[in-house]
Formats: sequence, structure tokens, C-alpha cells
Amino acid sequence: MIRFLADAMLGKLVRWLRILGYDTEYLPLSQDADLLQTAADDDRTLLTRDVALHREAVRRGVGSILLQAHSIRGQLKELSPTISLSLSNSRCPICNGELALNRVGSKAPRPLQPPASRGEMWHCVCCGKIYWNGRHWDSITEILADISR
Ligand SMILES: [Zn+2]
Repeated sequence: MIRFLADAMLGKLVRWLRILGYDTEYLPLSQDADLLQTAADDDRTLLTRDVALHREAVRRGVGSILLQAHSIRGQLKELSPTISLSLSNSRCPICNGELALNRVGSKAPRPLQPPASRGEMWHCVCCGKIYWNGRHWDSITEILADISR
């Protein structure tokens, strides 16, 4: 599966790619040279809207995708030939950690305020944040369906 490294301007896209299951590194404080080095060392495809950075990546043989759109819908649409818009393997949008299903009776972390929905819950194996399919999930699903059309 393709792994990404996004430049500092693409923080929102980073969270979306993680929700879509893509291992996406985000180093908003790094200089361009460090981004290019990390992408090369880590075998990640650089995502950027910066033409100069994209050209430099190509010159160094680092995989890079130049995005044009400002909106998240536009950016996901541009990436849609490369990525799968599926929510079956989400990662933690906050820290890029993998999510694990909370099993019944397990000692996994639980929310302080139990969610309204009684469905399944997941927790991030890195930062411990808890997720469930709430209203926010429905709006994500709608946006993805809209992009796929
Ligand atoms: Zn996390």
C-alpha cells in the first residue's frame, strides 16, 4: 500500500488519508530538504501543492504528487486514481496509529462520555483515542460517495 508524506499546507488532507487507511506522515515544522530526505528514506510519496518542491522531488527521484485543489474534496478527487476511497482499514487521524477493535469485556480504553450509538468502538494502539461510527462518520461517508460519483 502506498505511504504518503504531506507538506505543511495539507494538514486536513493528512487526517482524511489516515481515515482512509493510508499511512501518512505529517511533519509541518520540517524544511523542504528534510521532507525530501524523509520521503526518500521512508519510501513515501510526497504530497504537495508547491511546484518547486514537487520539481525538486522529481529531480531527486522521490515519488511526488503535485496537487492543484485547495478544497479537501478537490484534493481527494485528484488523488482518487491513486487511492481507494474505502473506510475499511482506518488509521488514527490524530497520530497515524493503527486502530484496534474494542472487544467485549476487554480492558481497552473507553470514552468518559459513552457515545449515543451502541455500535462497535475502536481505539488507537498508539495514542489511545477512542472512535466509533457517529454522526461525524456519516458526513465522511457522504463526502466520499459524492467524490466517487
Ligand atoms: Zn492515535
